[in-house]
Amino acid sequence: MNEIFEWERVLLNELPAMFLIEVLVRTSVMYLVILVALRSSGKRGVKQLSVYELVLIIGLGSAAGDPMFYEDVGLLPAMLVFLTIILLYRLTTWLSGKVNKVGELLEGSAVCVIRDGRFSLENFEKEDLAQTEFFSELREKSVEHLGQVRVGLLEPTGEMSLFFYEDNDVKPGLPLIPDAYNKKHSELVKKAVYACAFCGQTKEIEKGKVECPACKRDEWVEAIDTRRIT
Ligand SMILES: [Zn+2]
Repeated sequence: MNEIFEWERVLLNELPAMFLIEVLVRTSVMYLVILVALRSSGKRGVKQLSVYELVLIIGLGSAAGDPMFYEDVGLLPAMLVFLTIILLYRLTTWLSGKVNKVGELLEGSAVCVIRDGRFSLENFEKEDLAQTEFFSELREKSVEHLGQVRVGLLEPTGEMSLFFYEDNDVKPGLPLIPDAYNKKHSELVKKAVYACAFCGQTKEIEKGKVECPACKRDEWVEAIDTRRIT
């Protein structure tokens, strides 16, 4: 039984100190291998990773690290892993470019999440989107309320593409700024145009408790119709 905090073991796992030089060499070799592999994958910088790239990175990542410092992991098997992953990556990207169905299956396709100033419920619920995250992404794109957005698509990369109404066509919509949004309530006291706090459906309401005609929930926020100033 080893003793706790045996420094020789903690620091070097009982390997000779010279092994550190081997680590230096191993790491340098793997560094070059990673560099060559990523360049030959045809991939440039990384902004949003597609599903394939994520698989590529995870696969390469775990194969790259081990041989750098595990004495019992050789460099050649790791390089073979690299070669195999790069070939598979090229094969799947090529295939999904050639055959539409394969692309859709592996990457998913763009999903419409906003249409005509409100959330498309069927997709919104199916995609299991977290509302707060979704709202903050819209705000990052300078959307103050949903009435500014004609179409919103969720791309396979996870990015959101937005297409806006012309200034004159902006409709009253659900405010996305927390101060305004958090004033949601279900007991309405004055006549105004309200937006459903869940789906963004707008409706002129006198007062009282009203069910949203689209999603059947009953929390409302007073709609705003500010234009988009960019
Ligand atoms: Zn609703």
